[in-house]
Amino acid sequence: MKVIFLGTGEAFDERYPNHSHLVLSENTALMLDCGDSAVRQLWKYTQDHSLVDALYITHRHSDHLFGIPALLGRMLEEERKKDLAIICSEQVKADIERLCQHAYFGIDSYGFKINFIMAEDGKEIQFNDLKLSFAKTGHTAYNLAIRIDDLPRGKAGGNKVVCYSGDGPFDEGTEKIYKNADILMHECYMFDQRIKGHVAAVDVFEMAKRQNVKCLALAHFKRAFNDETRKKVKEAIPSTGLKIILPNPLEEYTA
Ligand SMILES: [Zn+2]
Repeated sequence: MKVIFLGTGEAFDERYPNHSHLVLSENTALMLDCGDSAVRQLWKYTQDHSLVDALYITHRHSDHLFGIPALLGRMLEEERKKDLAIICSEQVKADIERLCQHAYFGIDSYGFKINFIMAEDGKEIQFNDLKLSFAKTGHTAYNLAIRIDDLPRGKAGGNKVVCYSGDGPFDEGTEKIYKNADILMHECYMFDQRIKGHVAAVDVFEMAKRQNVKCLALAHFKRAFNDETRKKVKEAIPSTGLKIILPNPLEEYTA
C-alpha cells in the first residue's frame, strides 16, 4: 500500500495543513480525515475527482471534517458520478449531515451517491480489498483510530498494514490494532509533555516498540513548538531503535 501524507499539521497551523492522509491499495483509494486545508492538498496530489473511493473520519473536530463540503462541492462541479463511501461513527454522520445542510444544499444533492458505513469501537468491516478495524482513543471527542489491512494477493503483494490514530492517547485496546503495522501515522503534540487529549512523542516511541511497528510517522505537533519538537524527535531517533519519519505534506511512503 502507498500512503500520501496530505497534511501533517494540527488544527490551526498555517504552515502545515490539517492531519490527513490518502491510502492507496491495489483497488481502493481511502482518504483519512478531511479538514479544510486537507482538501486543497488532495487536489494538489490529483486532479481526478473520482479517485477517492471512501473517506474515513476519525472524529467530529473541525480540523478533521470541515473540509467535507468543499470536497463534495468540487466533485459536484466536476460532475463526479461514482459513489462515495463515508465511513464514520453515528455521531460523526449526524455532524456531516448538518454541516452539508449549512454549507450548501444537503448531503443528497451532490449528483452522486454517498453511502455511509458505520464504524464502531471493536468493529471490523470489509471495503473492497481492505479490512478495516477500529478502536477508540482517549481524545476529548470520541475518536476511532483505524487499522487498514489489504487482503492477501499472493506474490503480487498485499498483506500490508497501515494504521492511523486520528487524535488522542492510546490505551490497551487501541494498541492492539497497531500491532505489527507496516506504518503507523500517529498524532503527537509535544515531545515529552503530556497535554490532555493528545500524546507525547516519547510515549508513542515506547508503544511503537511494544507493538512492533515497522515505521512510525509522527505528525500534528503543536504549532508554536513544531520546529523544536521535530528537532528533539530527530535527535532521539537513534536511541529508540525504531524507524521514525516526520513527513512533510505530499510526501509518499510505500508499505
Ligand atoms: Zn481532535
